[in-house]
Amino acid sequence: SSPGPTSVPELFESALALFHKALTRSGIMVEKQWPDEVPQIVCREGEIRQVIANLVSNAIDAMPMGGMLQLRIAVGREDLEISVSDTGKGITPDVQKRMLEPFFTTKGLGGTGLGLSISAEIVARHGGRFGFTSASDGAASGTRFRFTLPLKPVDA
Ligand code: ADP
Ligand code: MG
Repeated sequence: SSPGPTSVPELFESALALFHKALTRSGIMVEKQWPDEVPQIVCREGEIRQVIANLVSNAIDAMPMGGMLQLRIAVGREDLEISVSDTGKGITPDVQKRMLEPFFTTKGLGGTGLGLSISAEIVARHGGRFGFTSASDGAASGTRFRFTLPLKPVDA
């Protein structure tokens, strides 16, 4: 797909619709935080949709006993700052070191280990930054993934 004008709030809403059953089944509350007017950005919409779906899917996997999924968009001077946070079990330092590698998964046969590596690559190709912070000790304070997307497109 070629780059086109995209509403990131709409991508979040469609991800929530896609995962509605899984969110309900696990008892996960959703908190949406973004301004009424989020500028459209020019991006490869299908790819950014995939990044969001990967992060939401990982957050759901991290909260089998319920919790809070927080979706945020902040409008910066040069980019959108997007984050997906969960209140799951966090990520141990050894997993943090390896989880951006293709095929690294802790989910056995249930995981491909591709979600994060592909997401980081897509964001980088769009000229954004991709990162995370997580409770490193397995305490129940969760994980936050953040990425940026430039308001002005770069060659993607
Ligand atoms: P997969 O979901 O198929 O395992 P990913 O690349 O999406 O592959 O994630 C790699 C690994 O990173 C996961 O197996 C898991 O151990 C860890 N991980 C990713 N997101 C989270 C999260 N929100 N909370 C806890 N662990 C996570
Ligand atoms: Mg995944």
